[in-house]
Amino acid sequence: MTATIESTITGRIASIFKAQQQTAIQLRTSHAQERIGKLKRLLEAIQKYEKQFQEALFQDFRKNPTETTLTEIVPLQSEIKHAISQVSKWTKPQSVSNPIHYLGANAYIQYEGKGVALILSPWNYPISLTLSPLISAICAGCTAILKPSELTPHTSAVLGKLIKETFNENEIALFEGDVSVSTALLELPFNHIFFTGSPMIGKVVMRAAAAHLTSVTLELGGKSPAFIDETADLQDAAEKLVWGKFVNNGQTCIAPDYLLVKESVQKSLIESLKNQIEKVYNADKQGIENSDSYCRIINQRHFTRLQKLMEDALLNGANVAVGGKVIAEERFIAPTLLTEIKPSMAIMQEEIFGPLLPILTYKNTEEAINFVNQSEKPLAMYIFSQNKNTVEQILANTSAGGGCVNDCLLHIGHPDLPFGGVNNSGIGKSHGHFGFMEFSNVRAVLKNRVGWTGFKLLYPPYTAKVQNLVSKLKKFL
Ligand code: NAD
Repeated sequence: MTATIESTITGRIASIFKAQQQTAIQLRTSHAQERIGKLKRLLEAIQKYEKQFQEALFQDFRKNPTETTLTEIVPLQSEIKHAISQVSKWTKPQSVSNPIHYLGANAYIQYEGKGVALILSPWNYPISLTLSPLISAICAGCTAILKPSELTPHTSAVLGKLIKETFNENEIALFEGDVSVSTALLELPFNHIFFTGSPMIGKVVMRAAAAHLTSVTLELGGKSPAFIDETADLQDAAEKLVWGKFVNNGQTCIAPDYLLVKESVQKSLIESLKNQIEKVYNADKQGIENSDSYCRIINQRHFTRLQKLMEDALLNGANVAVGGKVIAEERFIAPTLLTEIKPSMAIMQEEIFGPLLPILTYKNTEEAINFVNQSEKPLAMYIFSQNKNTVEQILANTSAGGGCVNDCLLHIGHPDLPFGGVNNSGIGKSHGHFGFMEFSNVRAVLKNRVGWTGFKLLYPPYTAKVQNLVSKLKKFL
């Protein structure tokens, strides 16, 4: 970016930020009905732009239009409708009961919008990961500046059009651009930053936020394991794992990153996975590269990264059990299952974020649990088992942002479940009420009576009478 363009954008960002600070003060008193009105406008705009989004995502990484509707439009639509039905309840002040020494006071919690929010989003689900935090910001009464990813330029352009047409930029604005735009935005004293992306950039965002003591929600990634034990229904597990891993070509933050399979069922599971891959991506036997349901790796950098991960694994003794085909000109990598995996391989050191699925085996559940606990806490964890004790044992002895038992990915779409990671996989939770809370300041209000209060009996000087009261209070409370 040239210096002149850069300074023009920085200037525009600064002036919109300033205007939004004013709007944010007005929004503090905005009624739930006004927020519902904005949510309805957003819903209508998403529906209006659905076709343009489908075309844009096809141009960006050959995503099937139905998959765009299923994974981007439908979740947004359902989240907005849920918010519309709940926001009046969420924004209502909440009374709390009083302990004895607060007798006569009125104590309650008031939810106020934090102010001006920054939403930085990634490329893999560019529509929902930009607009879903916006739903929460609107519910809380915040203004927002959005910065989608530069890696999906067609989709980001449609998002820009939608926002410009639907909202006044003094309340909600969108800036397209690369890292330089993010960096300029991160210099400003936002009241909240909602970032979705990699743990590495999450640290950059948190460092920038620290300069202004801005609160953050960090929706990050990591290596999400899937356990499959000997009691699992292997056909059912294979159907769900193939969907969870290869939708969006494995470029899903909560995709199963690797499988931990009980040794005795590895062979049968691979057979079921292989059949399922064929069924969904090669039913007409024309080759998976010709399937219009299978999208592409986002760009050359990620394609090369994935190719190197596969090469490194094979060089170090891994086997291709299924797939392995690569077409460089198309940034195509077939759904690939790798066995004979060693934990030291590069593929087990970083989030894969692509259609490679390493399979590791274990002899007993403790061994599998210990393996998972040696790494960073994952964003998601999946357990395929029909043994209730095993499921409880894994849930009790591991930590993860969320996950499913006998399914994949579906926890993300449940309106009443929080979504997010833990430590390296994220800070804070999003969606529904949890998202509303991230953008809200939970303000404590205590309205006391005028005149006599019990507390006045405890004021200095600390006479024997006061001392006596304090020791009674100590015993009583
Ligand atoms: P990324 O971290 O590279 O980029 C995310 C955003 O940050 C983009 O808007 C980008 O422009 C901006 N950015 C990049 N470098 C920056 C810098 N140095 N300073 C400031 N901003 C910068 O992530 P990505 O490649 O777009 O997405 C993939 C990652 O996101 C994966 O790790 C994945 O697991 C994670 N992810 C998490 C979730 C979730 O909900 N937890 C959802 C989707 C993706």
